[in-house]
Amino acid sequence: MTAAQEIEFLEKLYRIEVQTTMDREINRLAENVVAEIQTAIERAGSDDLSGLICFYCGVSVSDVKLSRCSCSFPESFGCGIRGRMVCADCERAHKQVADHLEKIFSTAVVNRVNGRRFKFWHQLSRAVRALDEDAEVTTLPLFCALAACDEFEVEKARFRHEVLKAFQDVRFLNFQGLARNLETEEYDSMLRSVIRSGIFR
Ligand SMILES: [Zn+2]
Ligand SMILES: [Zn+2]
Repeated sequence: MTAAQEIEFLEKLYRIEVQTTMDREINRLAENVVAEIQTAIERAGSDDLSGLICFYCGVSVSDVKLSRCSCSFPESFGCGIRGRMVCADCERAHKQVADHLEKIFSTAVVNRVNGRRFKFWHQLSRAVRALDEDAEVTTLPLFCALAACDEFEVEKARFRHEVLKAFQDVRFLNFQGLARNLETEEYDSMLRSVIRSGIFR
């Protein structure tokens, strides 16, 4: 089944009564989708069962178009699970967070006090920490899981694995909030470096 066929099937599933078929693949997919949707609906506190729902923010397909996510970390962010749908805003946020992680992963440990990895790492930590201030759901699990990662790890592959596993283990969902906070952090540190450079005095 191609991605397009799968989406077409999922959309049909919630518009019409799908007959139980003899196709085991379809039956299994239908079971997964129902379980996924129920979890998302419960979390969003909605009782609207009429449409597909973005697994991450709970927006319903009657308001927006949903698709499968095309970010670069489907396993760690959870969007690679079959039947799990995302809205365009969450997909964009996945990509922004993934880009920031790629920036962290591409840097090497230079020394313990400065260097690009620590700058990007601290932006991420602060962005995650700031989520707690306005969220109903605590993001402390992700903050703790990231704090347990060793940002001084010299071996890049191990460091990458640890960080991605943190997202996977806590089943992090608020990517839109995190992407927004990362933008603020990046803007703030850009301002700080402009001020340090002495352009504005
Ligand atoms: Zn969403
Ligand atoms: Zn994704």
